Amino acid sequence: MQLFDTHTHLDAPQFDEDREQVIARALEAGVTKMINIGFNRETIPTTMKLAETYDYIYAAVGWHPVDAIDMKDRDLEWIASLCSHPKVVAIGEIGLDYYWDTSPKEVQQEVLRKQIGLARELGMPICIHNRDAHEDVVRILREEKANEVGGVMHSFSGSWETAKMCLDLGFHLSFGGPITFKNARVPKEVLEKTPLDRLLIETDSPYLTPHPFRGKRNESGYVKLVAEAAAEIKGIDLQELAEITYANALERFGIV
Ligand SMILES: [Zn+2]
Repeated sequence: MQLFDTHTHLDAPQFDEDREQVIARALEAGVTKMINIGFNRETIPTTMKLAETYDYIYAAVGWHPVDAIDMKDRDLEWIASLCSHPKVVAIGEIGLDYYWDTSPKEVQQEVLRKQIGLARELGMPICIHNRDAHEDVVRILREEKANEVGGVMHSFSGSWETAKMCLDLGFHLSFGGPITFKNARVPKEVLEKTPLDRLLIETDSPYLTPHPFRGKRNESGYVKLVAEAAAEIKGIDLQELAEITYANALERFGIV
């Protein structure tokens, strides 16, 4: 069985003590491909280093909404230049975060629009981070014609109504740890209704740790727990769920 963790942060300082072992454990769990996310001035270089060191680690690069206020024109040019690197498979994570609100909403929106524009120019899929900003995210995806490139709604946490609009725009929905939580009624319902050919799985490690490790550090090997929960919700075998989501990820990110 092969699993694909489509969203991880293995370069995070939480892994400085044992990164090698964490990666080895992921491989043992059947995770044969991962996308590491570089989202600001510090994490883009560390993400590129991982992608250049490990065959099976790919990179997404973009500017996170939390850091939107810091994005300069040269950062956008930097991201653009990295997109021609053979291991860079998406622009992200980009989006809106109204929870932390460290950058004004208008600035976040402007930075998101610019990066969607870049993705369209370069024909790259995008990876969307959306926290408490469902309406504005969908509106901007629509206004900026993000459907021309598509991509993934990472760690999707919205309602089915929002999910439907993202699916209509050609986006994939990616689910992580929260679908393993007993009280997570909405994400489970949304996953149940999501067409299998638009489904992806992820950890977002070191965050969003699945049950039964909730509260501890997350790692890419735990995507197997996400896959097990997703298979149960979908009423299919783990093997089948793994195959489908793996193939979806290869196709969506153009990995051969
Ligand atoms: Zn992330």
